[in-house]
Amino acid sequence: MPKDSPQYEILALRYATMQKRSAAENFLFPDDHAANMPMDYFVWVIRGCGRVIVVDTGFTEPVAVARGRTLLRHPVAALESVGVTAADVSDVILTHLHYDHAGCLDAFPSAKFHLQDQEMHFATGRCMCHAVLRAPLELEDVLDAVRHVYAGRVVFHDGTAAIAPGISVHLVGGHSGGLQIVRIHTARGWVVLASDATHYWENIQRRKPFPIVVDVMQMAEGWRICEELADGPDHIIPGHDPLVLTRFPAEPGGIDAVRVDLRPVGG
Ligand SMILES: [Zn+2]
Ligand SMILES: [Zn+2]
Repeated sequence: MPKDSPQYEILALRYATMQKRSAAENFLFPDDHAANMPMDYFVWVIRGCGRVIVVDTGFTEPVAVARGRTLLRHPVAALESVGVTAADVSDVILTHLHYDHAGCLDAFPSAKFHLQDQEMHFATGRCMCHAVLRAPLELEDVLDAVRHVYAGRVVFHDGTAAIAPGISVHLVGGHSGGLQIVRIHTARGWVVLASDATHYWENIQRRKPFPIVVDVMQMAEGWRICEELADGPDHIIPGHDPLVLTRFPAEPGGIDAVRVDLRPVGG
């Protein structure tokens, strides 16, 4: 990439958590089934060069209650805490349509939603005849996504696509039918927002599959793709790891907000 290539800031914003959670819920073959292993929930912001792009939209209180998660702040409030007004956002990348990544789409009335063909196919086709595969989706979120298709506001991608100079999406699948990851150019090189291609660093580093999975082979290939696209292990940002908040510099003024485009500071 030439020297004058765009460099973006990337913020990871924690909006929810699940403190009581066992390792068996995070690994297909856990070393210790009963060990407690909390999970955090994030939305992400990419900004710079006059652009603000939101990656994923989180879930809201009724879903948090129904699923036993702790909502710390509405995802829209998390965005506001770092100066991003949801109503003004022009582009939202949806990594996939699971409940914790694709709620409250209506809070983004000006946005185009970037989604993989295969994810919509997955969320509306025969896969959803199986309870185990539809469990991580909320029907209302999927219906909202379909409504936005009919409103001309979904931009479908089939594999790799450029969203802006220095920002691209890449299909990996595995965890869901059409999960995509986001590659972003920053001052420290190429960073990959892996979302649920790796929930924790431990999934990718120890090659331990997450138990919510459609295709284990694709999940394993997804780890390889993350490594191929990122400039190092610290450049791969997992979707749910509490370590993200401790390893990266805090965004001044933000709450549970860190800058993952900067070098890690600890752990
Ligand atoms: Zn997911
Ligand atoms: Zn997730």
